[in-house]
Amino acid sequence: MTTTSINSVRPINTTNHVDGNSNTVGNITVGDVTGANVTFHITINRSNIEDQPPPGTEAVVRLQNELKKLHSLHMMQHALGSPIENAPGEFQDYVINSIDCEEFEYNPHRMTEVGVAVLDTRDIRGKAPGEQCKNWLEHVWFYHFRICETGHLVNKNHCKGNPNGFDFGKSLWVKMEHVKDILVELFSVPVAGVEHERVPGEPLRPVILLGHALQNDLKILKKNVGFDPTELGTMAATIDTQHIVREHGIRNSKTGSLRDWINLGDLINQLGGSGRDLHNAGNDAAYTMIAGILMGVVPFPALPATLPEKEASAYCVEVQNTFQHTKNVAATQHSPPWGLRVFCTRCESTTHLAEDCRAHVACSKCKHAGKKFWRSHSTSRCARNDI
Ligand SMILES: [Zn+2]
Ligand SMILES: [Zn+2]
Repeated sequence: MTTTSINSVRPINTTNHVDGNSNTVGNITVGDVTGANVTFHITINRSNIEDQPPPGTEAVVRLQNELKKLHSLHMMQHALGSPIENAPGEFQDYVINSIDCEEFEYNPHRMTEVGVAVLDTRDIRGKAPGEQCKNWLEHVWFYHFRICETGHLVNKNHCKGNPNGFDFGKSLWVKMEHVKDILVELFSVPVAGVEHERVPGEPLRPVILLGHALQNDLKILKKNVGFDPTELGTMAATIDTQHIVREHGIRNSKTGSLRDWINLGDLINQLGGSGRDLHNAGNDAAYTMIAGILMGVVPFPALPATLPEKEASAYCVEVQNTFQHTKNVAATQHSPPWGLRVFCTRCESTTHLAEDCRAHVACSKCKHAGKKFWRSHSTSRCARNDI
């Protein structure tokens, strides 16, 4: 029997992480996660889960009250470093988290992926953004979590899924029951910095939550894993990129209307990039963060559509190069040890992926229904269970 021990670390500056156990208050041990011959143990830092300061610490409440007065665009500009009057300056020390989830198209209680992108604004303080914010984007940390129990459910009809297509690093497999703990950690960043040992009840930094049609993702998280970031006491504000879009006057390209919501692919295209790798939660969270940064930087770079044709195409090439550069930098990041790189959704082994699986499996439901592909999956992982 193989045993893999996984210690949690802070998401940002994992290079500072030396010993996850020194930060660990409690353990979650998962026995036989797969049902196969591998057990893996996850040790999660519980300090900020069990000893959270009460929701709405004084500092965060003061920030919330000031940020409430701002439009989304102004809020995004402020999160990236533009000062605002009357805000308690000592607390303008944001972590910006963007989030996206995917769920099975036929069952909203079956979340299949979670993507998170994190920008610690301490990493960009005093740093010029550079062309297309290249110098800031290289400080974003990207995460893509696939869920062991639901990874076999891939959307094909309403909106084609792309779970294998994460472009900003390596996808990680995690159990559904660990998703909430991982997210709590990503939303609980100590003021003291990552190099210090975590202390229960210590002050945490304010978080700005960014999303594209964010309410949908928050609903999915609440429904599936009971995660509500507003309960943590660290949330200074939420920003929806769809609102920033309107304040920038960016129109839905199909209808030409400002009133119609814009989808993320359309937005990325209008900013000069290509949105073809979307509908992967990791990529969607990444592009939401990228769009938020590109729209929130001061001064705002011109939209390609407003430039003469030659200039516009040169600009789009630069944007694409910046995206590629961001992906290249992301590929060199340390992977957080919150899950497994390899998991087979066909036989539940942790030594190979489903496309390399040679295990004999069979689905009695599909067999009885006369389906040709009844040997492609087990009964317990039949998508018909969730339709
Ligand atoms: Zn397998
Ligand atoms: Zn089946």
